[in-house]
Amino acid sequence: MFKCLLVDKDDNGYRTSCTQLNEDDLKQGNVLVKVQYSSLNYKDALAITGKAPVIRSFPMIPGIDFSGVVEQSDSDEFKVGDKVLLNGFGVGEKYMGGLSQKAKVNSDWLIALPEDMSPLQAMSIGTAGYTAMLCILALEKYGITPKSGKIIVTGASGGVGSFAVKLLALMGYSVVASTGSSDQHDYLYDLGATEIIDRAELSAPGKALMKEQWAGAIDSVGSHTLANVCASIKYGGAVAACGLAQGMDLPASVAPFILRGVSLLGIDSVMRARADRVVAWQKLAELLPASEMQSIAEVIGLEQSIEAASKLLNGEITGRVVVDVNN
Ligand code: NDP
Repeated sequence: MFKCLLVDKDDNGYRTSCTQLNEDDLKQGNVLVKVQYSSLNYKDALAITGKAPVIRSFPMIPGIDFSGVVEQSDSDEFKVGDKVLLNGFGVGEKYMGGLSQKAKVNSDWLIALPEDMSPLQAMSIGTAGYTAMLCILALEKYGITPKSGKIIVTGASGGVGSFAVKLLALMGYSVVASTGSSDQHDYLYDLGATEIIDRAELSAPGKALMKEQWAGAIDSVGSHTLANVCASIKYGGAVAACGLAQGMDLPASVAPFILRGVSLLGIDSVMRARADRVVAWQKLAELLPASEMQSIAEVIGLEQSIEAASKLLNGEITGRVVVDVNN
């Protein structure tokens, strides 16, 4: 038996509890992992509270990411004792997830934990840091460098935004943070932002083309914000778009793309190819040693994550929430 969170939905309603299951309840996969840490992401909070239909089949263990040690393996790629991590692939949505002491998954969803990264460090970075790194790698692949000019990060005080600001600053970029959280300015400067703008400057309907200001952007907000960011990118620049905190719509014109050669780079972390994941996590291990992560991550127990999910959706949490599933 092992301890886990379990989300269920039936005639009695939608509910999440901390319970015990048997290994036979884990039907998917060829590698059994003894999970050490998971983390609480926006999607997990939606799954735990039922605020949006994230979960595709019930009952379900939530948790879209985890780190741990291989306990049994029918795969040639991983052996007992290997340290591994996982993000996405429908885990915690379609397949039993990481907010659990055990997880059974397909071997090609796992990657080896980078050598100099601990399981706690990996989940302190979690899907937010990994997604931010995918955005940065996309901008760099496109040809953007610190010499290209300023990079704007929207939703800057959020999970993805905070990591984007910090990582860009560590990589030598000049970072403009767009935020609606006036109480988070010191936090953003500490992360490495060189300039802060009020998100209200970007969130209302704007013009098809606006003053050219930034060489690139990482946008976790979507909607008018993304449209205005595209309209304000310098000739030949690019925007990595990964989120929809303002909305899923994109009320934009083609003008920035056809008159300024701006590119919109879509970022999905869930189904991303393993080779890209390995590169992103290796780069994260280089840039974010454990000492860098202590001030960002709060560690809670499995049962506490039910209450923390509501707080996260109410905007009452700053930084990353790591879940010690054995506590
Ligand atoms: P958070 O909730 O931590 O951060 C979102 C931030 O966006 C907030 O902190 C806030 O920042 C800003 N924001 C919130 N509401 C609005 C609004 N109405 N208008 C403008 N800005 C707003 O979420 P995450 O950082 O974890 O995720 C960000 C987005 O990225 C989400 O939409 C998430 O679903 C998506 N995502 C996508 C992934 C992918 O694979 N593509 C992977 C991970 C996340 P501030 O107060 O600083 O303005």
